[in-house]
Amino acid sequence: MGENVKDPMAVQVFIRARPLSQKEKFERAQMCVQIFSETNQIRLGEKIFAFDHVFAPEGSQVDIYNECGAQMLKKFLEGYNCTMLAYGQTGSGKTFTMGTEETKESIKKDSTGIIPRLISDLFQTIDNSACPSSYKVSVSMLEIYLEDVVDLLTTSSEPLNIREQKGTVFVQGLSSHTVASLEDTMTQLEIGCQARTKGSTAMNSQSSRSHAIFTVNLQKTAIDENECSYNAKFHLVDLAGSERLKKTQAEGDRKKEGIKINEGLLALGNVIQGLSDGVKHVPYRDSKITRLLQDSLGGNSCTMMIACISPADTNNEESLSTLRYADRAK
Ligand code: ADP
Ligand code: MG
Repeated sequence: MGENVKDPMAVQVFIRARPLSQKEKFERAQMCVQIFSETNQIRLGEKIFAFDHVFAPEGSQVDIYNECGAQMLKKFLEGYNCTMLAYGQTGSGKTFTMGTEETKESIKKDSTGIIPRLISDLFQTIDNSACPSSYKVSVSMLEIYLEDVVDLLTTSSEPLNIREQKGTVFVQGLSSHTVASLEDTMTQLEIGCQARTKGSTAMNSQSSRSHAIFTVNLQKTAIDENECSYNAKFHLVDLAGSERLKKTQAEGDRKKEGIKINEGLLALGNVIQGLSDGVKHVPYRDSKITRLLQDSLGGNSCTMMIACISPADTNNEESLSTLRYADRAK
């Protein structure tokens, strides 16, 4: 698909600052970021950064979806591979923004995140199309923890291998589940989230220490000569928390986790920067996350990063580090 499109699509980088949390208010934290919506700039201390879009704390979930999700869904329905990544420290709003932990009950609320809105729009578009049966949708969900790839939609927690065949990257043995509606899809997302949370009680908030990837596969069969058949995948990625571990905690397993996460996020940053700069050899092989996303980042695919930050002065350092990371990616 997309042979006629030669230009690689630019990686888009969005920033979202959430409102001050109750805890931050209670601690009398002050807002330390200033947002200039007209110019899509954000100021933190003396530094001013510009991005493709900057969402102020007032930005609603529907605003975010309309700005970020809808345009990518359009590309996906044209057959492009798409990747949307949420980056930021734990507590910055990645899961809220993506909607990774939503349930069938939460999807009708204003606070619903990107995944359910996107899936709802996807099925609406399919159902209203000339031939709904020419589309087949399936989903997979996995997490990468300590560089192990684990299926979240089966009972086995056996680490899986990443393979490549004819330019397509896939996880060998990863389960795939056909879905025909928003409800079907939410059922799978809920199963995946439960599998992820189970790990978290056993392993101490593993959920913020692993990357979760929810993948939607779309198979379209051409119904006449004006259409082409394609297979496209949309990766919705809730990245591990980007915070650096406090020195006192950085021992044993925590230390091992921290090193792996930092390596993965660093590798991802390098790949995205390489794509933005148009370098010849993009270092995809440096981590599992970049390896897995290889055919869905850059090239003929659509990539967006939403970097989430807390606006509180108490998180100043982590927010600055997130803005710097995002700045390198654009
Ligand atoms: P992360 O996944 O980055 O660790 P969460 O998405 O879990 O962070 O967000 C932390 C808390 O802040 C959650 O209780 C979430 O509901 C809340 N929150 C995050 N972003 C917003 C927002 N834009 N508006 C209101 N509440 C938010
Ligand atoms: Mg989260």
